[in-house]
Amino acid sequence: MAATVAPGGRPSRIRSIPARVRCAKACIVSAPGMTSQRCCAKTSATRGSPRRSAIRKAPPSSSPKWTSRSSATQTGSRPVAAASGAAVWAVRSHGAILATGPTGSGKSTTLYASVGVVSTPEKTIMTIEDPVEYRLPRIKQIQVHERAGVTFVTGLRSIVRADPDIIMVGEMRDRESAKIAIEAALTGHLMLSSLHTNSAPAAAARLIDMGVEPYLVASSLECVIGQRLVRRLCMECRRATNLPAADVGLDGSDQVAVFEPGDGCMRCSETGYRGRMGIYEVMTVSERIRTLIVARATAGEISRVAVEEGMRTLRTAGLAKVRSGQTSLAEVTRVTD
Ligand SMILES: [Zn+2]
Repeated sequence: MAATVAPGGRPSRIRSIPARVRCAKACIVSAPGMTSQRCCAKTSATRGSPRRSAIRKAPPSSSPKWTSRSSATQTGSRPVAAASGAAVWAVRSHGAILATGPTGSGKSTTLYASVGVVSTPEKTIMTIEDPVEYRLPRIKQIQVHERAGVTFVTGLRSIVRADPDIIMVGEMRDRESAKIAIEAALTGHLMLSSLHTNSAPAAAARLIDMGVEPYLVASSLECVIGQRLVRRLCMECRRATNLPAADVGLDGSDQVAVFEPGDGCMRCSETGYRGRMGIYEVMTVSERIRTLIVARATAGEISRVAVEEGMRTLRTAGLAKVRSGQTSLAEVTRVTD
């Protein structure tokens, strides 16, 4: 407890709170005053909007990666590593950018970081989310509230009528919301959304399965990000080891020096890992890929062309992190196989 003097001159006592808290589920909570309890309590409804307790407030000045163009593009901001791929496309004025991956792979964080990259005072940005996970300055965010008649579909229709420059849809869950979102991307809006698929090349097939016409998918998609979260090795207790070059994505038959988790220490709570980071594959949709989408090609065929055109797959991105000693081969295998 520290004694301070409030602006009015009246002494008050405030609790000193660490500026950066990491909760039990390793969510990064940067807002002063946030606790792990509030961060992860996503299901308890409170007075006012449902799931209000899930809101993680982004403080206006002290933080964060997604509040301004300058801070969002700093190197080393982990979510922004993925967003940078999207940002290349975000300078375009229309089209769809999707973040894909399983639950808990950091898709929402990537979307928020991307919105932070493109957010400028001249641009109108509207979102529809369930739940609103971060509050962002200058952005109109709508919380889905089915009992009050605000669903992804009705909310999205209202947003399209309001004609903002950029639309973020938390997740494309069904045919109707996917169709409206894709049509919005085709009618002059930049549309950011997430989709539940295992890889970036699988996104087009998933949208077609959901009932969106292939030609609409082909002409609206601009960039798809596939992502996973891997645990970082604890730098205090990681242990050097040798692996065959082929196992870590290199040519030749030599052994390569990498790291594996050690026995654990105080700093990593005896787990051998401390913190997490993202690995990403960023697929830009070229003319060749558009042709494949119209022809209803499989994810495998699209992936092959994307790799030929320079896409680095999740596995390749993960192995690069293994070679640089940031994570272990077992960890990359766990999330990419
Ligand atoms: Zn350790």
